[in-house]
Amino acid sequence: MTQRGLLCGFPKDVRTFNPLIPTSILPVSHHCAVFPGFCDVHVHLREPGFSYKETISSGSAAAARGGYTAVCTMPNLNPVPDSTEHLAVQEKLIAEQSVIRIYPYGAITVGEQGKELAELTGLAPRVVAFSDDGHGVQSDEMMREAMITAKRLGKKIVAHCEDNRLLRGGYIHDGAYASSHGHAGICSESEWGQIRRDLDLVRETGCAYHVCHISAKESVSLIRQAKREGLDVSCETGPHYLVLDENDLQEDGRFKMNPPLRSFADREALIEGVSDGTIDMIATDHAPHSAEEKAKGLRGSAFGIVGLETAFPVLYTKLVVSGVLPMEKLLDLLVYNPRKRFGIPLEEKDYSVWDLDEEYTIDPSDFLSMGRATPFAGMKVRGKCLATVCGGRIVYLAEGQRE
Ligand SMILES: [Zn+2]
Repeated sequence: MTQRGLLCGFPKDVRTFNPLIPTSILPVSHHCAVFPGFCDVHVHLREPGFSYKETISSGSAAAARGGYTAVCTMPNLNPVPDSTEHLAVQEKLIAEQSVIRIYPYGAITVGEQGKELAELTGLAPRVVAFSDDGHGVQSDEMMREAMITAKRLGKKIVAHCEDNRLLRGGYIHDGAYASSHGHAGICSESEWGQIRRDLDLVRETGCAYHVCHISAKESVSLIRQAKREGLDVSCETGPHYLVLDENDLQEDGRFKMNPPLRSFADREALIEGVSDGTIDMIATDHAPHSAEEKAKGLRGSAFGIVGLETAFPVLYTKLVVSGVLPMEKLLDLLVYNPRKRFGIPLEEKDYSVWDLDEEYTIDPSDFLSMGRATPFAGMKVRGKCLATVCGGRIVYLAEGQRE
């Protein structure tokens, strides 16, 4: 086999690199690429505690299908990994079920309740960082204490920024769509206000800090400024915030996530933030729920959408093919930057093979994830994952690709 237009030089030749991949999966006429394993620092795989939404097994299979070989799992579980004993429950499931590498977060506070610090010292050697994702840490004093302790332990604080005082029952962006359709809005300040609070605490404590899923233009400006100042700060945004905005909203739970899709101006600011390096990485915030939980429209549905199986095709189609970002930049955002920031090694035998010419329509009924709610359903995209290899083992092989 010759190199059939391999786009990215990792590795140079699929066949010599890994004899496990059947050469027949590489279509002769198509543009194939091999990418180093993607890394998502923000996913919810729902176990232990919520296996009716997703399991480690289904979630890691979905990740593999998306080209991911490493993901970091958020701690809004039952039990919450706020002690080594609770974390052990999750570690056991990961060891038994996962087909890729999973790095759990430890909670910042006991039960993610914001009242009392979790067992940070005991957790530190076994978790990637600390987060109370799903909730903002409301108390300034609690966040200060967490940052001081995390700094001492050499760990990052990874913050879901949301000021509960400003929520006022909102569930989509407080913008044109909410007012014209009679919905309660979530203002951008609920996000950026808490980022501003945290940046003051970072200045005070010197803690390494990462902001989850930024969605608002003000958040981009705050982080840009903090980086200029030299603070040890990074952030992520999600594919949906870069590709969609409130103008795309439909009266359907698959458009509901937290933070919400914001205005066109916010989306533009996020793209600018990605381009100039203010935004370090793209994370999916893969957050599966049951069909019932997502069937109650914008008002009544649970917050959260799935994203692992659509991230690359959506980003490739909407940002790279359309000329917004070069492919190298997209790989920085999906592979290199998250691994570097979180110290997650890139193993040589972790990669995925894609047919970049294959065009198709996103169909959630075909997902490996148990969650089906995605605002990208019905979107025409390019880029199909043919195979994913983790640790030299094939962990995903597209249907019809077997020899
Ligand atoms: Zn969150």
